[in-house]
Amino acid sequence: MSLVTGLACVVCGQRVDPPPGAMTCPACNDPFAILDVQYDLDAARRTLTPTALATRPPNHWRYAELLPVEPDADAWSWPVGMTPVIDAPRLAAWAGVARLRIKDDGRNPTASFKDRASSIGVLRARQCGATNIACASTGNAASSLAGFAAMAGLTATIFVPQTAPEPKVTQLLIYGARVLRIRGTYAQAYDLCSAACERFGWYNRNCAINAYLVEGKKTCGLEIAEQCDADMPDWVVVSVGDGCTIAGVWKGLRQMHEIGCIDRLPRLLGVQAAGVAPVADAFERGTLPDRVDGTTFAESIGVAVPRNWRKAVAAVKQSGGAFVRVSDAAILDAMRSSGRLAGVFSEPAAAAAVAGLGEAVSMSIIARSASVLAVSTGSGLKDIRAALTAAGAPIDVDPSMSAVEAAIQR
Ligand SMILES: *Cc1c(COP(=O)(O)O)cnc(C)c1O
Ligand SMILES: [Zn+2]
Repeated sequence: MSLVTGLACVVCGQRVDPPPGAMTCPACNDPFAILDVQYDLDAARRTLTPTALATRPPNHWRYAELLPVEPDADAWSWPVGMTPVIDAPRLAAWAGVARLRIKDDGRNPTASFKDRASSIGVLRARQCGATNIACASTGNAASSLAGFAAMAGLTATIFVPQTAPEPKVTQLLIYGARVLRIRGTYAQAYDLCSAACERFGWYNRNCAINAYLVEGKKTCGLEIAEQCDADMPDWVVVSVGDGCTIAGVWKGLRQMHEIGCIDRLPRLLGVQAAGVAPVADAFERGTLPDRVDGTTFAESIGVAVPRNWRKAVAAVKQSGGAFVRVSDAAILDAMRSSGRLAGVFSEPAAAAAVAGLGEAVSMSIIARSASVLAVSTGSGLKDIRAALTAAGAPIDVDPSMSAVEAAIQR
């Protein structure tokens, strides 16, 4: 059912036919010349109709025509995607817009948006005959890979640096991944992982540049189009680290527009942490900054050297959108407000989207009359320490009614 027609280079635009495993354009000789998967959209227009969609399973394989792998029988049951879109009127009032919907991607099986890409990567690895898959990461990409490897029956080997936080290592271990904690830096773990993949023939998911994995991220955009349908928001807000997510969301929205499922496209707001905002800089100046010196506690978007910045910048420009930067304090405030006013528990990198919405309204980039959809890219349970900073402490009370009365009057 997949309607892939080929690969094109994002820099030179040429159709390319790279050797298996190559992830950048053979003509450009540029490490940032990543590839983009192309489809027969005329054929998709005929089969991907509302009637057809109504009969398909509630996961992202429902868009098989627009995916680069064919789901096999057991993959059809993996519960990835089709995450809920929640109307959040009180959070809308807090942010200062007429309407706000949250698409809660923290509800994916391993609790982040990365499951969309991992499900594709693992399925592709299995179909290529791989039994082992590896990556170097401490973040959501790794836990997601570990979870989907477990679903698919593959062995996952994850290289983490010694400083990897315990809660994140725990999620890897519970999914049965082989966790190699390297006595060294993240860069050393990354290089060792790549070398080990070559040496042992493992499938490498270090994939900011893997064109097929990006296609998984696209499904969020396909879903927004299907779920909002005739009631498309004016703006879609996405937090940005490497840039692959927002570019994927845009590709999905655009394809649904091209095949006639929606009749207008929203504008995109990209949100970066103020301390690590190279993609926002590139949006304004056309190139990446020479270096990034700041930091952010929103680890999942703290990417100093983003690989997909070109795709991200192009997506936001094409949409007529904008970028904003948010402070860690604004992210903490958005975490609290999303929880209290919408019942959505977001990790810092996910709450950054809601913080960015507030910022864009105060800068008059987004009008107060606007209808907005923000994607919450990961669950707050991923990062309990950050959540506790936002949430505060419980009230300690002696075991008596008078103590309870005193406590609730405070
Ligand atoms: C990876 C990630 C992002 C950003 O995605 P990029 O593709 O790196 O831009 C945002 N939020 C969460 C929770 C993530 O894990
Ligand atoms: Zn090229």
